[in-house]
Amino acid sequence: MGHDVVVVGAGFAGSVIAERLASQLGKRVLVLDRRPHIGGNAFDEPDASGILIHRYGPHIFHTNSADIFDYLSQFTAWRPYEHRVLASVRDRLVPIPINRTTINELFGLNLRSDADVQAFYDARAEPGPTPRTSEEVVVQGVGRELYELFFRGYTRKQWGLDPSELDAAVTARVPARANVDDRYFTDTYQAMPDPGYTRMFERMLDHPRIEIRLAVDFHDVRQTLDFGQLVYTGPIDTYFDGRFGPLPYRSLRFEFETHPVAQFQPTGTVNYPDETSVAFTRISEFKHLTGQVHEATTIVREYPAATGDPYYPIPRPENRALYERYRDLAAATPDVHFVGRLGTYKYYNMDQVVGQALATFRRIADGSASAAA
Ligand code: FAD
Ligand code: UDP
Repeated sequence: MGHDVVVVGAGFAGSVIAERLASQLGKRVLVLDRRPHIGGNAFDEPDASGILIHRYGPHIFHTNSADIFDYLSQFTAWRPYEHRVLASVRDRLVPIPINRTTINELFGLNLRSDADVQAFYDARAEPGPTPRTSEEVVVQGVGRELYELFFRGYTRKQWGLDPSELDAAVTARVPARANVDDRYFTDTYQAMPDPGYTRMFERMLDHPRIEIRLAVDFHDVRQTLDFGQLVYTGPIDTYFDGRFGPLPYRSLRFEFETHPVAQFQPTGTVNYPDETSVAFTRISEFKHLTGQVHEATTIVREYPAATGDPYYPIPRPENRALYERYRDLAAATPDVHFVGRLGTYKYYNMDQVVGQALATFRRIADGSASAAA
């Protein structure tokens, strides 16, 4: 028997759309993923020691949208969690995003007010026209010394590009603060799915009209499938056989290690911005994120890589121009809907992907309603 819709990818984008189509429109949905599990890059599982880890790097949920939080709350309970990150700079661990504590500790100062810290930034900032690059946005805000200590090396490692070659939006994700707020995110909702992400995905996809096939690449089986519409959450250039040339992506190699101690480091993540002494960008310790109690602890180091699974679209003007050629082709392919971080080549967080998927579902629903009328 055929399916109304085939969904390629069981990550946030694909799972949200499959859930909505089945539960709200009664569609028969087939979800495919080439990996042997659901959840996409948010997949988590216990490692050999029984410690819950995120197989594709640390995932912390945060959003300002009550709608997105409420939607996901149908499928999971939450554990409140506010992520904190330290950066290893000049042999110290100091808060990142840069805040008043960072400045006082690094420069041996005793600035007491937001105004003092803002004056410190202003004295070093190099003003200019609207910042276009990841270098300009930091240097214009806090000056070159802090840029070099915290951003230049980290960014060069993470992206294989100089910050001057990347859109301003990339480093603008981590803006400096004048106060002492040391949380990594300031969103209204910050929490982790209580029994983990994978359990949340299982509940989302647990529907009699949803069939899941894992370890199957869509491109290997597409000729054998019988369906009406397609939702594609893999890389958009791959769908079109790379006909305009490959879209660049950045990958990572994850190195997991379990240590026979209860705690490895003081916060969920420690960043290592130095380019010459350390090849990885950050170390994350999962028990901080999950709240799990265990006598041992597992950490992961992230080593950026040019090849491997596509994890990050690379935000810069020439890549956007190439993506737009694929997007125009997609617009001329009406029964295929491209969604998600790879399907729309957007550096989106999980909540943004959920929001985008819900919006795409509403468009599909409106299309079915007008076709029926
Ligand atoms: P994915 O999760 O990539 O899912 C796409 C799925 O499609 C994959 O499972 C893939 O196997 C499958 N697929 C692709 N092509 C095919 C094919 N041809 N056939 C079959 N299946 C196919 N976001 C946050 O909000 N907070 C964080 O803390 C955070 N940390 C992150 C850390 C790292 C290291 C990374 C890489 C990302 C992080 N993110 C974080 C972003 C988050 O992972 C994404 O926003 C989200 O997972 C994107 O969901 P998606 O469904 O678009 O894509
Ligand atoms: N960044 C940096 N130093 C840091 C943290 C971030 O230079 O200590 C830059 C870097 O370019 C990084 C970007 O800011 O890729 C966004 O950081 P974020 O932590 O949001 O990255 P993600 O969690 O998405 O990998």
